[in-house]
Amino acid sequence: MQTHPLGAKARILLSSVFGPYAQDDEFGSRKINPMELYHNQVTREQGPFSLRMFHRSWGILMIQKNISAPTTVLDFPTREAFEAELLANDYDIVGISSIIVNVGKVRVMCRIVRRISPKAVIVVGGHVAAIPGVEGMINADHIVRGDGISWMRRYLGEDETAPVRHPEIISGFDGRTLGLKLPQPKGATAATIIPSVGCPMGCNFCTTSAFFGGKGRYLNFYDTGAELFAVMAEMESKLGTKSFFMMDENFLLHKRRAMELLDHMKAGNKAWSLYVFSSANAIAQYSMRELVELGVSWVWMGLESPRSAYTKLKGADTHKLAAELRRHGIKLLGSTIVGLEHHTPENIHKEIEYAVAHDTDFHQFMLYTPVPGTPLFLEMKEQGRMLEGVDLADIHGQHQFNFRHAAISREDSKLLLDGAFRRDFERNGPSIYRICRTTFNGWLRYKNDPDLRVRARFAWEARALRDGYAAALWAMEKHLRHTNAAVSARVRALRQEVGQEFGLVSRLVSRILGPVLLWSTRREEKRLAAGQTYEPRTIIERRNWTIDPALATSAHEVDHGFHPGQSLVTIGAPSEVSDSAD
Ligand code: SF4
Repeated sequence: MQTHPLGAKARILLSSVFGPYAQDDEFGSRKINPMELYHNQVTREQGPFSLRMFHRSWGILMIQKNISAPTTVLDFPTREAFEAELLANDYDIVGISSIIVNVGKVRVMCRIVRRISPKAVIVVGGHVAAIPGVEGMINADHIVRGDGISWMRRYLGEDETAPVRHPEIISGFDGRTLGLKLPQPKGATAATIIPSVGCPMGCNFCTTSAFFGGKGRYLNFYDTGAELFAVMAEMESKLGTKSFFMMDENFLLHKRRAMELLDHMKAGNKAWSLYVFSSANAIAQYSMRELVELGVSWVWMGLESPRSAYTKLKGADTHKLAAELRRHGIKLLGSTIVGLEHHTPENIHKEIEYAVAHDTDFHQFMLYTPVPGTPLFLEMKEQGRMLEGVDLADIHGQHQFNFRHAAISREDSKLLLDGAFRRDFERNGPSIYRICRTTFNGWLRYKNDPDLRVRARFAWEARALRDGYAAALWAMEKHLRHTNAAVSARVRALRQEVGQEFGLVSRLVSRILGPVLLWSTRREEKRLAAGQTYEPRTIIERRNWTIDPALATSAHEVDHGFHPGQSLVTIGAPSEVSDSAD
């Protein structure tokens, strides 16, 4: 590959695709596919109790941190903001990161770059690169598949084998539930850590596994527990956090690394909480005690049907596992696929009931979806079962089948999917209640643990049960009283137990704050019924940047109080230019 003539002196813009996202438009935005991961795929049928928040575009942040060229990250721009950024700076390279559904936006952004910055080289990466024939759909100079850090280092003539530096990333922002914005004091939100990409299990439908090499392959950014510990300790000191969202498709599968990390956590007396993705067979490698000592606080796990024969579920009794995790205070986000090959109109309801009976804290349902680039897509294509004329913008697993299922129609796929979410909510109640329940279990079990590190972690996780969560329980109980008496009674029982455990202050707070949350919940319900949606703010981060003096004098530097670490960040109108760091 030829390097860029300017090498590391090239000015680079790395951008995510433009919004607004939560609307139906000709560029590929879809109202049912907003930029809110949990609301979009997990809690969307939970009305005002849905957990809503935004997550940064980690790929471009990782690339920015690992090159020495002056680089701007533009996250969640509007089209106008993207154009304004190109007009304000003379970029040599423009990188656009996108998932498959947003290929139409990438096409538009390439056109904008050609018009405003004709000499800029356009590089497109992310899952959109997996679309067969994408080169003919967009006017880009380079399409990058897989790891973008080493590609960009190579392109700039830098050392692609240099250790990977980790950016400071807050795992979510602008969180919202029960009609109120969640407070985000420094250190309260987990830091995102990306230890590896890809997953060797290679399930046939899995886009991330396929994108980073498929079955048997993955890429470790941090191979040892010592390296991982060093990164986490750095984030702890920069962001003030004790909790970490381990953005690794199957974190617990890498047992050697996880156990080395545990040794370092013990030696460093770190009472950290870890939120991980893990397959059932990977969890089975550990005792509950090991998971608890490792700080595993939350697990995202596939709970496909036992008849699905995926290796990751081999020999696992997932109902038993879910109950055991709950008893040990480990929250579980179960993920179930609707529309597997063996599903029929006769057995699907039983299968959904089976999934819902796990009584997880969160439950994600997705349609079985042959996404371009996956083995499943190739299989379906070979069998001639891909449906013609399905817009790529609608292939996100929350709309309708994009292939011909043997027994279930396209229209019914959507009805079954929505029904699964509703059934989970009806039977198990709001996820916020379920989190309180599992957190409370953990507190009761470990509050007097002889290991002070374990005890400290559970005390830290249970702190909100004394106030915020207690008030939320009060509001949920009252709100659900007339619509779901059974769940309301369970919420009430938990609220009373929490009140007894944490005493008068907790009971008073729930009585005083509870009515406020009930009011905000009802207000939110009305807003949502009237079509309210939420969008992420535009964020600009510059690194290795020298501000043009003319721009600096006209720029209005604004501090919005959101500081993912040392990089200076501007949130708001992109004309509010901020600065560079390190
Ligand atoms: S175990 Fe999960 S992450 Fe790994 S390939 Fe299967 S679906 Fe993907």
